Amino acid sequence: MVLEQTTRDASGVWRGFRGRVIAPDADDYHRARRVHNAAVDRHPALIVRPTDADDVSLAVAHAQERGLPLVVRAGGHSMAGHGTGDGALLLDLSAMRDVEIDAVGRTAWADAGILAGEYTAATHALGLITPFGDTARVGVAGITLGGGVGWLVRKHGMTIDSLLAVEIVTADGRRRLASAVEEPDLFWAVRGAGANFGVVTRLQFRLHPLGDVLAGDILLPATRDVLRSLVPVLLAAPDELTAMPLMMTAPPDPEVPEEYHGRLVVKLSVAWSGAPDAGERALAPLRALGAPINDTVAWQPYPALFTPVDRDAEPKWGVSSRSLFLDDLDDATIEVIERRLTEADAPDAIVQLRVLGGAMARVSGDATAFGWRDRPALLWLITPYEDVGQAATNESWTAAFHAELAAEGAATYLNFMGAEDADAVHGAYPAPTYARLRELKRRYDPANVFRFNHNIRPA
Ligand SMILES: Cc1cc2nc3c(=O)[nH]c(=O)nc-3n(C[C@H](O)[C@H](O)[C@H](O)COP(=O)(O)OP(=O)(O)OC[C@H]3O[C@@H](n4cnc5c(N)ncnc54)[C@H](O)[C@@H]3O)c2cc1C
Repeated sequence: MVLEQTTRDASGVWRGFRGRVIAPDADDYHRARRVHNAAVDRHPALIVRPTDADDVSLAVAHAQERGLPLVVRAGGHSMAGHGTGDGALLLDLSAMRDVEIDAVGRTAWADAGILAGEYTAATHALGLITPFGDTARVGVAGITLGGGVGWLVRKHGMTIDSLLAVEIVTADGRRRLASAVEEPDLFWAVRGAGANFGVVTRLQFRLHPLGDVLAGDILLPATRDVLRSLVPVLLAAPDELTAMPLMMTAPPDPEVPEEYHGRLVVKLSVAWSGAPDAGERALAPLRALGAPINDTVAWQPYPALFTPVDRDAEPKWGVSSRSLFLDDLDDATIEVIERRLTEADAPDAIVQLRVLGGAMARVSGDATAFGWRDRPALLWLITPYEDVGQAATNESWTAAFHAELAAEGAATYLNFMGAEDADAVHGAYPAPTYARLRELKRRYDPANVFRFNHNIRPA
């Protein structure tokens, strides 16, 4: 449904623009151009902070009139650094952060610049939540448009499974509403490939009741038996239990016994969101996987799972990232992980496993643009580094690690993709989904105005 088309008068595109324009000579330009991935060092021609969808529409038109590349940013947490760009008009949505909650109807409309932690704090105050990921600072828009896999993925599905509608400004400057009944093709496409189809300005979500969760970390030695059991044991757990095992060499922290420092361990981060009296029972098979070295699991309010948001924090860490979907953690995969993480010159990399199934897998693979619903597990390789001068070395080490695990064209998760070559995006979609996305891209963005993302080229 086309909501409105902003008309421009002869005096120029900026007439009526109510947001802020940050030029390269502004005091805060250098902070404003940076994103979470500190290794990404780009200089936009202009940074604009719209206040509403009309401002967004004006900025989209201005970029096209001036022939400026158009870069869109919500939370700035793209692993590939897609939230900033050289010589671009950077549309930074961070000033648009209201949330309108209908507690009775259990829905909420969120502005596209709000962060997951800010949204969750507002809704949880009313005992309601929408599932996002494991990090508060990630933008609600960015995580949703790529899918959204988090602490409640087995109970409530992905973030896109709670998405009811979006308001979006498309390349032609039109404001549209997309939902199951209005422009359903566009609504299908934004649920997994959203950055390609326009600037989403507001998102409407379903809310779910949730109070406290039983959550924390169970630290286990990374024996072969433990590693082999992770996927089957976690898949067999009730849907209310989601776990994110992290494989890493143990840091020299006081809470980790000295004998484990530098050795491979599994930090089994868990969240139980079911009935209070069933939580300990559900966790028992996880604790029985091996002799726990440490266990911090305790009841806590759901928002306590997230570190509080500090919008002013300076980006400090560069990061390289790759992912792949797995059926199982088999011996060949385990061997590569053990060898890579413990080799003499390995960077401080971690390997996170998300065991899926549950509500996420009960949605049909062609219901949304995210299509890998039948995959039991997702592996995420993350290499953080403080010395951004080491970006190239860490990038090629992470790419080589990934290449050892993933066959060419292996299925990958869009939100965890790093700075990969343009063809890698094929792996984010089953082939029929990708073909349909290319057709829709031709319909909604034939000139590929929205291309500073994991890009789908118009058919
Ligand atoms: C520390 C960390 C933890 C994470 N944990 C999880 C997790 O648990 N689960 C998970 O699923 N993902 C996770 N992610 C990945 C994250 O969801 C993606 O990187 C996501 O794209 C970030 O969104 P953003 O808005 O912060 O980023 P941005 O860099 O602002 O945007 C990401 C992409 O979306 C586009 N975009 C942003 N807003 C809009 C909009 N309104 N309209 C159109 N396009 C837009 C941008 O152009 C860019 O291509 C994590 C990332 C980090 C860095």
